[in-house]
Amino acid sequence: MTRVLTLLGATGSIGASTLDLVRRNRDEWQIEALTAQCSAAELAALAIEFGAKLAVVGDEACLPELREALGNSGIEAAGGRAALVEAAARPADMTVAAIVGCAGLAPVMAAVERGGTIALANKEALVSAGEVLMQAVAKHGATLLPTDSEHNAIFQCLNGNRIEDVAKITLTASGGPLRTWTQAQLDAATPAEAVAHPNWSMGAKISVDSATMMNKGLEYIEAYHLFPVGLDRLGIVIHPQSVIHSMVEFRDRSTLAQLGPSDMRVPIASCLAWPQRMETPLAPLDLAAIGALTFFPPDEDRFPATRLAREAIQAGGSAPAILNAANEVAVAAFLAGQIRFTRIAAVVEETLARNNDAPRPTSLEEVLAVDHSGRMQAMSLLETNALV
Ligand code: NAD
Ligand code: MG
Repeated sequence: MTRVLTLLGATGSIGASTLDLVRRNRDEWQIEALTAQCSAAELAALAIEFGAKLAVVGDEACLPELREALGNSGIEAAGGRAALVEAAARPADMTVAAIVGCAGLAPVMAAVERGGTIALANKEALVSAGEVLMQAVAKHGATLLPTDSEHNAIFQCLNGNRIEDVAKITLTASGGPLRTWTQAQLDAATPAEAVAHPNWSMGAKISVDSATMMNKGLEYIEAYHLFPVGLDRLGIVIHPQSVIHSMVEFRDRSTLAQLGPSDMRVPIASCLAWPQRMETPLAPLDLAAIGALTFFPPDEDRFPATRLAREAIQAGGSAPAILNAANEVAVAAFLAGQIRFTRIAAVVEETLARNNDAPRPTSLEEVLAVDHSGRMQAMSLLETNALV
């Protein structure tokens, strides 16, 4: 029996991993829609290869190029933010949400509102819209399958267990490429150094987030919403080998962990096949070859991002959405060579400090308004002291 799949963010790193798995199981999937921000030629080639019904670019200016690249394939083309939402709203058995940033929120919400099954990689959507998104999931009977490797690990460890029996959930973190760098070295870290992740191959934004540890901060907030155990039962441990993808300790002091290669095709496969399992092309885990698994506490002096995320979710209200918005702006500025590495967390902290009494957003529109205002604030901070 074939299942219908829509892939939001088809041209990215998660998109490529998803399509690699689909390509190996072509007769099991029918593709409804593939989307990208622009990359029109690449998107058109994928849409043609996979026989998609619809191809959408988020940037409307790329639509003519997409149309031309699709030629007389008969594949429908569309462009713009509303078209992304419309694509996500179309019926599908599985929606893989792999757009980067809060830009993916409105399409995710559209998939939630039709009660879809969503493999959620787009963590920023959940960080920004936390309560609003989880309430919509409950209201519309949608199914969220966590695709982020840590959350997918926790989801697997919780299977068959009661959430009230959980004593602690521990997110593992590789520590990123700059884990052992001194403060002075961090001040001078370049974009190329920050994106050179030792274990994972990922898009530029999440790679920088891994280097600052904001990725783990975002994941901490993501875990808070996905697994309602409370903040005092959520922890982070540095585990440089990225073999244990996260773990759950129960009240009898039994700890379950999920292990696997550091390749996103493993958690993606677990979502695509859920509640069953499917083959992946990966080599078996060879623990004897790996030899040692090590663990350290996070260092929040050199990497303040996890503290900022914890404070934001403790503060609640609009703080997580502001944190995410400021981080997106700061990471883009760092990648563009406008600010130094250690300014990323500083911009986030300063933006949060200026927004400490904004109310909790209660609708998608309110979340997007908070996101917009957080971006504006962060940008104005960057303009006033760009290279400090
Ligand atoms: P990426 O940059 O490689 O790809 C992003 C995709 O989204 C591309 O298809 C791009 O065209 C599209 N896109 C970018 N901006 C957009 C916009 N404004 N509107 C619409 N589409 C847009 O990113 P990625 O590494 O694949 O990550 C995607 C998401 O998955 C992120 O939220 C990331 O945090 C999460 N994630 C990624 C990994 C990984 O290994 N790459 C692991 C865990 C979670
Ligand atoms: Mg992760």
